[in-house]
Amino acid sequence: MNQIKIGRFIAACRKKANLTQMQLADKLGITDKAISKWERGIAMPDTSIMLELCNILGISVNELLSGEKINMEQNNQKNEQLLLDMAKELEQKNKTIWSSMWAIMIVSMTALLAGIFIAAFLIPEGVWQLVTIVGVCVLFLIPCFYALKLEVSVGAYKCSHCGYEIVPTYKEVMMAMHRGFTRHLMCPKCNKRTWCKKVLKK
Ligand SMILES: [Zn+2]
Repeated sequence: MNQIKIGRFIAACRKKANLTQMQLADKLGITDKAISKWERGIAMPDTSIMLELCNILGISVNELLSGEKINMEQNNQKNEQLLLDMAKELEQKNKTIWSSMWAIMIVSMTALLAGIFIAAFLIPEGVWQLVTIVGVCVLFLIPCFYALKLEVSVGAYKCSHCGYEIVPTYKEVMMAMHRGFTRHLMCPKCNKRTWCKKVLKK
């Protein structure tokens, strides 16, 4: 915050409103010395009277603190650009998680098959073979749960009836029938069970 700039801005706005320092001070119930201090950039208006000051001067608090008039259109554009950038960033992040989820699934699936293959062919039939196969399957569940967690945190499912984006719970995801990227889910909005397509959360 540039106090000098703010001070000059307050002075300019006060003059534009055809007020003397004394008149403005009276309206705010403070001394004209305080106003003089703001305008010289020695002190800042108290937050408790900032809003009232802005009302009298016909400016926004944002403008007061930036020490200049803010073009509304410019301000909106700036905000929109900011929102757009944030949305883009989020989408990128979602995509990254999404692809890492597939990488995890492919690697663990390969490991599962390799494990079962090794157990079936290299370990002689018996208890140890069974133990190894069960062990490999249990190990396989870990990345499965991790992927499931990612899936629930990243994605949503679009209701094919009303378009509502459903964010299912773990249980619902596990229990729901699935077909590729679609899952048979109950929509909380229209209460219809449809095949919902996977979408990335915005
Ligand atoms: Zn629906």
